Amino acid sequence: MAQQEDVFKKIVSHCKEYGFVFPSSDIYDGLGAVYDYGQNGVELKNNIKKYWWESMVQMHENIVGLDAAIFMHPTTWKASGHVDAFNDPLIDNRDSKKRYRADVLIEDQIAKYDEKIEKEVEKARKRFKENFDEAQYRSTSPKVQELQEKRDGLHHRYQEVMNAPGGIDLEGMKQIILDEEIVCPISGTRNWTDVRQFNLMFKTEIGAAAEGSSTIYLRPETAQGIFVNYLNVQKTGRMKLPFGIAQIGKAFRNEIVARQFIFRMREFEQMEMQFFVKPGTELQWFDSWKQTRMRWHQNLGFGAENYRFHDHDKLAHYANAATDIEFHMPFGFKEVEGIHSRTNFDLSQHAKYSGKKIEYFDPETNESYTPYVIETSIGVDRMFLSVLCHAYEEQLLPDGQIRTVLHLPAALAPVKLAIFPLTKKDGLPEKAQEIFNDLRFYFNCKYEEKDQIGKRYRRMDAIGCPYCITVDQQTLEDNTVTLRDRDTMEQTRVAISDLQHIVDEKVTITSLLKKLA
Ligand code: ATP
Repeated sequence: MAQQEDVFKKIVSHCKEYGFVFPSSDIYDGLGAVYDYGQNGVELKNNIKKYWWESMVQMHENIVGLDAAIFMHPTTWKASGHVDAFNDPLIDNRDSKKRYRADVLIEDQIAKYDEKIEKEVEKARKRFKENFDEAQYRSTSPKVQELQEKRDGLHHRYQEVMNAPGGIDLEGMKQIILDEEIVCPISGTRNWTDVRQFNLMFKTEIGAAAEGSSTIYLRPETAQGIFVNYLNVQKTGRMKLPFGIAQIGKAFRNEIVARQFIFRMREFEQMEMQFFVKPGTELQWFDSWKQTRMRWHQNLGFGAENYRFHDHDKLAHYANAATDIEFHMPFGFKEVEGIHSRTNFDLSQHAKYSGKKIEYFDPETNESYTPYVIETSIGVDRMFLSVLCHAYEEQLLPDGQIRTVLHLPAALAPVKLAIFPLTKKDGLPEKAQEIFNDLRFYFNCKYEEKDQIGKRYRRMDAIGCPYCITVDQQTLEDNTVTLRDRDTMEQTRVAISDLQHIVDEKVTITSLLKKLA
């Protein structure tokens, strides 16, 4: 675990050193849980968005895009339930003055029991070697059974307080924290305040005060922009059910426990798609979108073992099924995307609060109804983090040196091709520049002539550039260059005239979409 945390720290500093992610307002020492994307980060992020957008909008005839404003009529958030129910339960430690999410403290405690159980199993596996029968050990070891009982008891109590009839049972939560003797990781004490609810939406004012300003919110999710435009899009696009509306945009949450770098931010970006279906067909579509979205992730080639579904047993009041796609980050399996069957809750609520009829007339059955909705919601920043975590490697080379390389999928890499003259003389820079000027029309290229060639290769490895070409004396004679592959470090001699074709095939989003189809 400690080793994994180390790797994570290295990834965070790599992001800063190579222009992927900077703390926001860095010269003022940053702003908590807010980050800026640098020259390489913005390219990687744009490529992730492009992959998502094209796989959704371009590849599905019945999905269209939208770009709704961040500011919305304040009643939107009354109708959606965010004003009353978008709360986190918080608890403070009086000694360290640190604030925590009470639900996270309890979930971490459950995870600790799980870890202890796994440790026992691993110890036994080592002891019994090939005679080890894991299932039998789990069901008979008194130690494991005791831990399992404690874990299940805690899990059961936690479910009860989270699903209490009048909303989360805050006193019950505090009691669990006391009974489990959970301590503050900073002060090490159990000197806790009561648990309180805290709304996560940022508020601001619209209009000049003299004219009578009113309070509005920064949207905490992009989904509502889609729901309030359902009628506009359905009518003007003459959309027939089932159909979807996709959107990429910023969302804001005043997260209390901001940690793990860009995993939990206060300003972040979501890629959401709301898929409107006939009532009664929603669970079928839910399953189908689960599979489609998992394929999209696995298509990047990070290995199926690094993903899992986490089906929710606690459902939000509006949902009748929900799952997360979790990715194996250096700090454990974590949610990257949520897939929710949201029933007709949102459209019905907006109909109620706006007084407008929000329905679909079904020409096949001649009836009108409120469509049901399947939502797929993925955080761009979490996706970015999962890509980086998987790509990062400190590779020990045969000569004993270590190279830091990002094995980014070529289609997502910020720079696709680096072009180097071997030396700064004999007309090599001019020739290299000529190739650069030609190929920059097709993909993102970088020209570099500073430092020894080895150093230039390393710099490109560190930003995940899949290909480098070197222009040398032979180039002037026969118009060929060496093409170096980032992952294998192998070099092949290819004709300049073939370069565009060779590289293009590997680095475009189209190459990913074709694999997906
Ligand atoms: P969590 O339980 O981690 O707070 P959530 O279940 O509240 O997340 P959703 O409301 O389902 O998240 O949002 C959909 C997606 O938006 C998440 O899967 C995640 O990728 C992203 N997301 C949500 N909150 C944040 C955040 N604070 N920072 C970055 N990404 C986020």
